[in-house]
Amino acid sequence: MSETLNVETIFGEKVFTVEKMRERLTRKVFQEVKRVMDYGGELSMATADVVAKAMKDWAVENGATHYTHWFQPLTGITAEKHDSFVSHPDAEGKMLMEFSGKELIKGEPDASSFPSGGLRATFEARGYTAWDITSPAFLKESGCGVILCIPTAFCSYTGEALDKKTPLLRSMEALNEQALRIVRLFGDKEATKVIACVGAEQEYFLVDKDLFLQRKDLMFAGRTLFGAPAPKGQEMEDHYFGVIKERVGAYMKDLNEELWKLGVSAKTQHNEAAPAQHELAPIYETANIAVDHNQLVMEAMKRIAYKHDLRCLLHEKPYTGVNGSGKHDNWSLTTDSGYNLLDPGDTPNKNIRFLLVLACILKAVDTHADLLRQSAADVGNDHRLGANEAPPAIMSVFLGDQLEDVVRQLVETGDAAKVKQGGRLETGVSTLPDFEKDATDRNRTSPFAFTGNKFEFRTVGSADSIASPNTTLNAIVAEAFCEAADRLEQAEDFDLAVHDLIKEYMTKHQRIIFNGDGYSDEWVAEAKRRGLPNIGSMIEAASTITTDKAVALFEKFGIFTRVELESREEIIYETYAKTINIEALTMIDMAGKDIIPAAASYAGSLANAVIAVKEAGATAAAQTEMLLEVDGLLADAKQALNTLREVEAKASAIADAKEQAFYYKDTVRVAMDVLRAPIDRLEMVVDSKVWPIPTYGDLMFEV
Ligand code: ADP
Ligand code: MG
Repeated sequence: MSETLNVETIFGEKVFTVEKMRERLTRKVFQEVKRVMDYGGELSMATADVVAKAMKDWAVENGATHYTHWFQPLTGITAEKHDSFVSHPDAEGKMLMEFSGKELIKGEPDASSFPSGGLRATFEARGYTAWDITSPAFLKESGCGVILCIPTAFCSYTGEALDKKTPLLRSMEALNEQALRIVRLFGDKEATKVIACVGAEQEYFLVDKDLFLQRKDLMFAGRTLFGAPAPKGQEMEDHYFGVIKERVGAYMKDLNEELWKLGVSAKTQHNEAAPAQHELAPIYETANIAVDHNQLVMEAMKRIAYKHDLRCLLHEKPYTGVNGSGKHDNWSLTTDSGYNLLDPGDTPNKNIRFLLVLACILKAVDTHADLLRQSAADVGNDHRLGANEAPPAIMSVFLGDQLEDVVRQLVETGDAAKVKQGGRLETGVSTLPDFEKDATDRNRTSPFAFTGNKFEFRTVGSADSIASPNTTLNAIVAEAFCEAADRLEQAEDFDLAVHDLIKEYMTKHQRIIFNGDGYSDEWVAEAKRRGLPNIGSMIEAASTITTDKAVALFEKFGIFTRVELESREEIIYETYAKTINIEALTMIDMAGKDIIPAAASYAGSLANAVIAVKEAGATAAAQTEMLLEVDGLLADAKQALNTLREVEAKASAIADAKEQAFYYKDTVRVAMDVLRAPIDRLEMVVDSKVWPIPTYGDLMFEV
């Protein structure tokens, strides 16, 4: 047997948990910290000093030499700048490791090199990081040694958010405030807080290191830009939930161990649909901690892969023709007294609070379908959404048979008298137990599906931060709760008013409900008829955040100012243009320096063979045919390469960010596809011994 791993002991080993704070702080200090953690407010500087010292002592005991304010700029990943605990030596040359409350609470990284969308000119480089006391500090071990990481928010000198955490925290506060009003309407005086909870399922691909290093596209773009399909893909459906290969299993084991030490409750793991694709899901938790933890999951996935001579691909579409990767964002609302507002109970038709919450969510998603779609947009996700495998770009809500039936009754008669039950599932084998069935089957094609006691937002991309989707979800639902509470708090007859409101919202917004096949062409036509937005790409979605509707929403709840939204729109265009630029340059490099030369020399050897064989008196018919085919494809590839070079140069010269992004999408990406086509066909006819890069078969099956 292998060495046993005591998960209970190692869990949270690298985290400065509440438990560790309780042990290391005096009762009074601990209580002050806990109060601020739970209900907001500011720590006194004296308390901050004490906490900082305790945190530093713990970190140093565990080998830390540095600390960092760990933050999440608009790059979508995390940033860190390390400072050692080293202090000025005294007159005798002795040095003490120090860390003050001020250093814990506030940092001042130079902000000029992070995306700001024009919010801050480079000469006004000052940015601040502020400790997010609600997310625990942790230790990160890398080549640099051990670093104490303090989760922080990041804003500019003038107070604008320059990160993903600040708006998320603002949205959680807004949602809490509005949801509490709803809870109070039903006489609940016990709950003091409503918390958005999130569990993010993370999909990823693994690839062998040596093969990865031979693919410039994987190295620079995180996805393959060329590649003919392998003879075998995912059609046998033998990978999904299949037996996990030894090397992958060893990777998963190390990954789990690392995550548990970091306090991430990694729970499920399995093979996904495509060869070499896998998934990990942690147990859900408070939204902002889930967001931080998802960043740690992504970082750990990449880091641990190195140890196993693997590389982890988080891109939404590493390989054309097989399943892409997403990140199902499971979201629910829980009171601090332990009630899940999305729990329908056994008789949802009688659960008025649940029906009100549901009606508000339907209203929120219908009113802001465009914003929700935008919140899950990133460059890689453009390859998934609407591409017949991932949720479509059209937002809709799946409720399942039971709830759909309740909504229908409410809309038609104003009263839901009956409720469908799941009944029993008979296995037909006497030694197997019969089950209580769920009242509703699953639907895999819906972008926003009700799954028992939570919504599963499936549109989110695998490489993306889950901060934006959750910020938007919280915001739109806060708005719907606010409008409902405004009305219901004034009502003379609450029972009647709430009944009318549920019926009104459900009737008005039922067009957002769709239980059918989201991948079908019929749905695209039907959604159009219903007037639901179908936004095809990230940059077409960008302007949804600066409409008057969006600005009114976000400003009302103090989540974003118009200026912040405008800057974010600008960053979307910049990010898109830069990413496609890298992809185009990588294709130019690979095609021009590796693939076309290899195919050309193969054509040369065929030509020599034709001459030699003919001289020897044979026909060389096969060689001639092969030569003509390679020659034709080479000519196409070379011409497409020339075109790509031209349009790429034009794109780089465009000054306006939006115009540039659209040029990249409408012209450069098209030229990239035109170049890829003959090269993928060449791959099928050129001698595999001279083909300069590993094939799809190598990449996906040699793990
Ligand atoms: P599936 O793939 O069947 O949807 P998984 O077990 O892979 O299920 O993932 C489900 C995710 O949803 C997990 O992260 C889980 O913790 C999370 N989850 C479960 N209940 C809730 C809830 N009430 N609120 C938010 N997330 C939840
Ligand atoms: Mg899953």
